[in-house]
Amino acid sequence: MNPIIIIGAGLAGWTTAREFRKLDATTPVVMITADSGDFYAKPTLSNAFAQKKAPDQLVVTTAAKMAETQNVTLLAHTRVLRFDPYVKTVTIDKDGVVSSIDFSSLVLATGAQPIRIPLAGDAEQQVLSVNSLGDFGVFFQALESISIRRICCLRSYENNSIEGNENAASFPAKIVIMGAGLIGCEFANDLVNAGYQVSVIDPSSRPLGALLPEAASEQLRKSLQDLGVQWHFGTTVQAVNQAGESAESALQVTLANGQTISADVVLSAIGLRADTRLAAAAGLACERGIQVDAALQTSAPNVYALGDSAQYASAGNTTLPYVMPIMNAARALAQTLSGNKTEVAFPVMPVAVKTPALPLMIAPPKLGSKGQWMSAEPNVWQFNNEQNLVTGFVLAGAQTSKRAEMVKLLQPAL
Ligand SMILES: Cc1cc2nc3c(=O)[nH]c(=O)nc-3n(C[C@H](O)[C@H](O)[C@H](O)COP(=O)(O)OP(=O)(O)OC[C@H]3O[C@@H](n4cnc5c(N)ncnc54)[C@H](O)[C@@H]3O)c2cc1C
Repeated sequence: MNPIIIIGAGLAGWTTAREFRKLDATTPVVMITADSGDFYAKPTLSNAFAQKKAPDQLVVTTAAKMAETQNVTLLAHTRVLRFDPYVKTVTIDKDGVVSSIDFSSLVLATGAQPIRIPLAGDAEQQVLSVNSLGDFGVFFQALESISIRRICCLRSYENNSIEGNENAASFPAKIVIMGAGLIGCEFANDLVNAGYQVSVIDPSSRPLGALLPEAASEQLRKSLQDLGVQWHFGTTVQAVNQAGESAESALQVTLANGQTISADVVLSAIGLRADTRLAAAAGLACERGIQVDAALQTSAPNVYALGDSAQYASAGNTTLPYVMPIMNAARALAQTLSGNKTEVAFPVMPVAVKTPALPLMIAPPKLGSKGQWMSAEPNVWQFNNEQNLVTGFVLAGAQTSKRAEMVKLLQPAL
């Protein structure tokens, strides 16, 4: 019997394997991933610095242990080059050796890719993004090496041994974050808590502008500013250049408003785009993500998708790049893979924003909804649509404990 093949060992891939094994212990499953396959919770990447967690400490379960527990054959550090949904083969590249594997069903759990915008400057290539444990490792190393350089610099200065620069040695590393969305704000809070100097650049006029009512946004702006975050709204990063030998920091960031900021590291957090490359090359229907019907099937029979790569018909043809949708989708898909075709029904899934300066719980109204934000008590906002139904809410600070209460209010309106 040909195996079920799962491409991707992120939360979507592993959760599908785990849910499937609860229903079927024996059907062969092959999981193929370009990374190590170690299991980690991606949300921990944006609150690891303040907890002084190194990349290795974020691994929850090693790939080998996961493969053994879930009884899957794991092909790690293996890239899928293409698949044929009708001949039912996947072509892989492992260490330069190309081969093919046949499948009975295929699950695409290929995630998303960070959006990169073209920037000017001779250090544009040094701009980092964090969307995987591997990316986090690169970011972590960059900050570690700056800290080490500065400690050496300070010691040299104190010993008068070389031309140490007191200023460079005693100031924390400077990080410029492009984007004041969910991931940008979470990293800003985490890095400032960990003692770094943080500047955030965003073309809008406030943080989380697309998701929050103005008053909540203002509270978040102030809470993070009080911790030391420097905001630059209404402008964008235009160029990233080497700052030169004598400069305190390695990079110079030029903004569209003409201002320049010195930085040791630039982190781009301007959004993610579903990774549809394999699916589109195989001729599957893709828009903002790989299009799937209510049973998570793509436009090809026996080929399914979920996670950050999918665009769900059950959610009004949108992508849902969060943890909770993956849990729901994986449970439904496991049923279908084990022979019981099941449609996914997404409940209300508020997103917790990990900004300890001002914790937030957000259930946004549908994009483009007409209506208005109202607030009857402090730190509670609800979005009333034109029929006066509550179709979204935001809770801040201690009021985030009202999540269940607000979800109930929302249910009948959806
Ligand atoms: C910093 C950060 C913080 C977050 N915080 C939260 C949060 O607080 N709450 C929340 O709900 N969500 C959060 N999210 C979103 C959430 O983590 C994601 O929705 C989820 O982890 C996506 O899982 P995935 O399996 O779909 O994709 P991924 O984890 O990206 O996995 C994709 C997999 O596909 C593999 N792959 C892709 N192409 C190929 C190929 N051609 N060949 C082989 N393998 C391939 C990759 O190697 C990888 O294993 C956060 C995201 C980030 C980046």
